Amino acid sequence: MAIDSAWTEARIAALGEFWRQGLSTAEIGRRLGVSKNAVVGKAHRLELVARPSPIKLRPAPAIATAAPVPLPTPELRRPVATPTPVRLVRSQSKGPSCQWPDGHPGQPDFHFCGEPAAPGKPYCAAHAARAYVSGKSRSDAA
Ligand SMILES: [Zn+2]
Repeated sequence: MAIDSAWTEARIAALGEFWRQGLSTAEIGRRLGVSKNAVVGKAHRLELVARPSPIKLRPAPAIATAAPVPLPTPELRRPVATPTPVRLVRSQSKGPSCQWPDGHPGQPDFHFCGEPAAPGKPYCAAHAARAYVSGKSRSDAA
């Protein structure tokens, strides 16, 4: 091969030196005035120890893609401010509530008790007790 004839002892020595220095085959070829393939082929024939290419000198570390765990923000743990004042009379729309009339019908202050009704009764526990103690006339009208 014509190329091999270019490999003098000096060039082979230089090749080995450049190889140990970790120069790329292209760079070695440039310095020795031969093609990259010639460098690769000669190095192979010389059985130069394999060396990591410059690209592989710093392999990408195992990518730890674990995203940082988001910490709960203090805002989320802050108690929710009450936007409206607490109503003294409970809402009649939430579940059964005591229907015990308080006051006189027709009067401005007339209202139903509104306390949570006892299970199976139209009144709260206290008013249910009063209703059934005071007689059946009120609750058994029907
Ligand atoms: Zn009641």
